[in-house]
Amino acid sequence: MGRLAEIAPGVLVATSSFALTTTTVVVGPGGRCLLIDPGVTVGELAGLAGELAERSLVPVVAWSTHPHWDHVLWSRALGDAPRYAAPAAVAITETERAGMVEGAESSAPGHDLELFGRLVTLDAQVIPWDGPVAKLIVHDAHAPGHGAVFLPDTGVLVTGDMCSDVEIPLLDTVAKDAFGDYRTGLARLAAVSGVRQVVPGHGHVGDAAEFRRRLAADSGYLDTLALGRPFDDPRLTEDWMRDAHEAHLEYVQR
Ligand SMILES: [Zn+2]
Repeated sequence: MGRLAEIAPGVLVATSSFALTTTTVVVGPGGRCLLIDPGVTVGELAGLAGELAERSLVPVVAWSTHPHWDHVLWSRALGDAPRYAAPAAVAITETERAGMVEGAESSAPGHDLELFGRLVTLDAQVIPWDGPVAKLIVHDAHAPGHGAVFLPDTGVLVTGDMCSDVEIPLLDTVAKDAFGDYRTGLARLAAVSGVRQVVPGHGHVGDAAEFRRRLAADSGYLDTLALGRPFDDPRLTEDWMRDAHEAHLEYVQR
């Protein structure tokens, strides 16, 4: 039984056992494919490589949506495609490497660290390859150089760690203007026209109406947070998220 499910013609999504993390595969001509955020456990990456081989798909290019450990993973079995990310994401991955490795080792141990976070800067509007057009929407919400991928042919928007149905907006609380950055990120995503499906980095695939609902929920979260009073968001279900929420409140009050 495969893990990859086709959500639109030539667009496959797998969901990890870790935090409902999604991996997206975009199929191009001749079985060449674009791989976005492959994850998360060593076993899942091996399974993904096996499943791609079964489907005669070969990754020729990859994209990491943002510089967090669970989005910069790789396995030798996936081949040696260039793994691109936005310039700011690549820069952070270099300076924060030790902490990112620690995150991977504690939650998904055993990855080949020679391949971990080995990203190449791509400063472009689209991912260079001969498959379906893959437009980049780059902003600094949640993490510097956060790059969503929009596939206009199918209307699929891969948002990285934005627009989740299971996680609150997670602010980059070391940034100077975490709120402004987050609002800018949401605005850039909201401005993408023709979205038919949203694929969040963690959570479930949603349709166009669900995409709009999540944008509104995330803006609403920021609006309420800005008042600086504690409140409940229905997505606040786990301790680590409550901690993040508390950190956001502290950030507002600073
Ligand atoms: Zn993240």
